[in-house]
Amino acid sequence: MPRPYNFSAGPAMLPEAVLEQAKAEMLDWRGSGMSVMEMSHRGKEFVSIAEQAEADLRELLDVPANYKVLFLQGGASNQFAMVPMNLLRGKGKADYLNTGQWSKKAISEARKFCQVNIAANSEAVNFTTVPARETWTCDPEAAYLHYTPNETINGVEMHTVPEVGIPLAADFSSTLLSRPLDVGKFGVIYAGAQKNIGPAGLTIVLIREDLMGHTIAGTPTLLDYAVMAKDGSMYNTPPTYAWYIAGLVFQWLKAQGGLAAMGERNQAKADLLYQAIDASGFYQNPVDPAYRSWMNVPFTLPDAVLDKPFLAEAKSAGLLTLSGHRSVGGMRASIYNAMPLAGVQSLVDFMADFQKRHG
Ligand SMILES: *Cc1c(COP(=O)(O)O)cnc(C)c1O
Repeated sequence: MPRPYNFSAGPAMLPEAVLEQAKAEMLDWRGSGMSVMEMSHRGKEFVSIAEQAEADLRELLDVPANYKVLFLQGGASNQFAMVPMNLLRGKGKADYLNTGQWSKKAISEARKFCQVNIAANSEAVNFTTVPARETWTCDPEAAYLHYTPNETINGVEMHTVPEVGIPLAADFSSTLLSRPLDVGKFGVIYAGAQKNIGPAGLTIVLIREDLMGHTIAGTPTLLDYAVMAKDGSMYNTPPTYAWYIAGLVFQWLKAQGGLAAMGERNQAKADLLYQAIDASGFYQNPVDPAYRSWMNVPFTLPDAVLDKPFLAEAKSAGLLTLSGHRSVGGMRASIYNAMPLAGVQSLVDFMADFQKRHG
């Protein structure tokens, strides 16, 4: 029996080859006599795992030499606080784009630390688009601009990096590693691992070195990027097993041809699904086509009474976790790196069949 296709938004599907490798190495990692879960984070075995993972991530994203790569805990939600605590640098203001549910959470956390200027806001149109760059009202005194390149819940993705003239802080939780990215355009990039990188419990941060070391008074030690960078993310015990699995995912990505290959694949998957939705006259996606996410595809059926049978029949067909976020309703298919084109094709075939029977 092949495994079902899992469309969960996160924690999400991992490449089967990665799970198989973890299984093979579970009791004895490469002759060490230990599971990775049982190793000291300061022992040579785990240090080699950690260093390899960082090297592979740097290679995949072509991370410039003046950026630190951190492997932290606390999820993206913890970064909502760490970003202002570290990046305000004596300034009292920051620009934020409000383009979806995750932007909103980042904004409400930032308000604990500074004056937040909402430079652009799409809440009035239910977060179905992103205001054009020319309409943004940036604050000339802002320390940085924060935005969410891919809104996981709303299915809204900005496909280009904005030019603003101040450091960009970006929540890449659900899109990092889905395609090539020019890291040098950012001050800080962060991502919870459980969407497109690895298991929950790990948060990846890429930070430009000159932005570190200016925390606001009272910043806890663990929330200071400079401390974590100086200690190689090992000031305290890091999430070792999640770090190891992420490392296996990085190797898998390299074997797939890297991020250019993943980008082509992800675009083809998204095109297939959006075209099927648009052509159906039955399913609907509300997002402005210019900002449709490659990773998270929300869609509705013509009548919400069909939701339950859709989910039940999908499950029987080996298509799991298609229920939309509780705040949006309907369906959501998350099609991260680990979802093969064949999985999206299965979903599209199932949707056409369901429509025939219920349309
Ligand atoms: C999932 C998600 C978060 C929250 O991540 P946690 O790891 O649960 O804190 C934040 N931002 C985005 C864009 C997400 O997709």
